[in-house]
Amino acid sequence: MNLLILGAPGAGKGTAATAICQQLGIPHISTGDILRSAIKNQTELGRQAKALIDDGNFVPDELIIGVVRARLKEPDAQHGFMLDGFPRTLFQAQQFTQDLKQEGTSIDHALMLEMTDAAIVERLAGRRVNATTGKVYHLQNNPPKVDGICDDDGSSLIQRSDDEPKTILHRLSVYHQETEPVVEFYEKLGLLARFDGSSKPEIVVTKILALIEASSRQSV
Ligand code: AMP
Repeated sequence: MNLLILGAPGAGKGTAATAICQQLGIPHISTGDILRSAIKNQTELGRQAKALIDDGNFVPDELIIGVVRARLKEPDAQHGFMLDGFPRTLFQAQQFTQDLKQEGTSIDHALMLEMTDAAIVERLAGRRVNATTGKVYHLQNNPPKVDGICDDDGSSLIQRSDDEPKTILHRLSVYHQETEPVVEFYEKLGLLARFDGSSKPEIVVTKILALIEASSRQSV
């Protein structure tokens, strides 16, 4: 099962992808997580990505396409994957489709989480994360038991540098301009399935798993 999860920043892609991948036994490949980990480990990739991410801009297409190509060659991705945060531009989508075609494979579903801009701003402004594990909280909707501390391992929770209010608005405008054409691209290919990102995460996950199961039954 080769899956993509699409949607504006804050639409709940990471949360849904984590749960779905656990169920399906496929790796959750988040390009944002790969880049944040490169920044933390001070690699050359991290050095190239840091200022762009902090300002809410995209890293260059060729760079991220190379990252995804390398990741998909790893053994755990040979029997399916869930890509989160990629493709994010029409060029990435076209190039990636070609890459998969050359490997004799393709995407099974592009899962789109829809949300209004107002709901996105509210969700991102209140988002706090465990920088080590990536676990996500929300100040109002999903607070930790102790203010500012992760329930799981006691680490301090941080606000992502690109979740600052002025960067959120910029990321949303980049999303509308650059990533909405990707949604249309998969819609034209007949691969797009839309879900309400403002629903509770467990409802979104149940609906997505139902779609995947129904389509797997059809193809048997
Ligand atoms: P995310 O965690 O998916 O919101 O990604 C965080 C940031 O990483 C984005 O705002 C971009 O700066 C960068 N990034 C992640 N994936 C991509 C991609 N496919 N293309 C370009 N930039 C990306």
